[in-house]
Amino acid sequence: MAGVLLVTGAGRGIGAAIARLGAARGWRVAVNYSRSRAPAEALVAEIAAAGGEAAAFAADIGDSAAVTAMFAEIDQVLGPVTSLVNNAGIIGPVARVEALDDPQALVALYATNVFGVFHCSREAIRRMSRRRGGPGGVIINISSVAARHGGLAGEVAYASSKGAIDSLTTGLAREVAADGIRVVGLRPGLTDTDINDGHDGGKSVLGVIAPTIPLGRIGRPEEIAEAALFLLSDAASYMTATTIDVSGGR
Ligand code: NAD
Repeated sequence: MAGVLLVTGAGRGIGAAIARLGAARGWRVAVNYSRSRAPAEALVAEIAAAGGEAAAFAADIGDSAAVTAMFAEIDQVLGPVTSLVNNAGIIGPVARVEALDDPQALVALYATNVFGVFHCSREAIRRMSRRRGGPGGVIINISSVAARHGGLAGEVAYASSKGAIDSLTTGLAREVAADGIRVVGLRPGLTDTDINDGHDGGKSVLGVIAPTIPLGRIGRPEEIAEAALFLLSDAASYMTATTIDVSGGR
């Protein structure tokens, strides 16, 4: 079942890997980006050169009106979205809770990591729902193992936003099951992307943590993408309201 796949925050990292693999598996891919247009356009060109179909669409997913406008633009360029990967995310403020003096930083964190999932899911469901005449579809929410273990030092806020996503996956799946829409989550463990620059200590944290991971290394974006494409496929047709770890056993 391929169709139009929207991947949010797909200009780099895990989202780019999902977009790339999705296009290779026959999806027409909507590559969402918020600020950096060039990497998104480069990915679209790379997909086209490999024989796939993709286009780049700007929207800050935390901005409800911008998300509505983006979906309308995708309708025109690629056709209505038939599956969605809610991938875009930020680490947000890294600090102990008693040092979180800037409430706006928390609002910004939740605007992207949680409200963005609501905004994009809303628009996707309106197009995918069989009760509304749509084809059904799949929504994947990218969570984190931080939702389970509380995050690295100073990442309580980030971890809590991912915990909210896990709850949303369960509830939304039940709400839209009769619409022919499956909702599933993925919890990556530490994965080699630039988001890890945001940790306390930057990317050096990866080398410290790698030996503590049962498989002995951090993950690659392509390994998260393989799991996502499985969940999008009919091979996962009986999976909904669940979130699976892709974490090397961490
Ligand atoms: P990344 O920083 O490389 O990519 C995130 C992308 O999201 C970026 O392109 C960024 O511009 C985009 N983005 C951020 N805010 C946005 C917004 N408001 N609107 C639209 N796009 C926005 O990081 P990544 O590692 O590829 O992260 C992808 C997802 O995986 C995130 O949800 C992250 O929390 C999750 N995750 C990552 C790891 C890891 O170790 N890399 C582990 C667990 C979970």
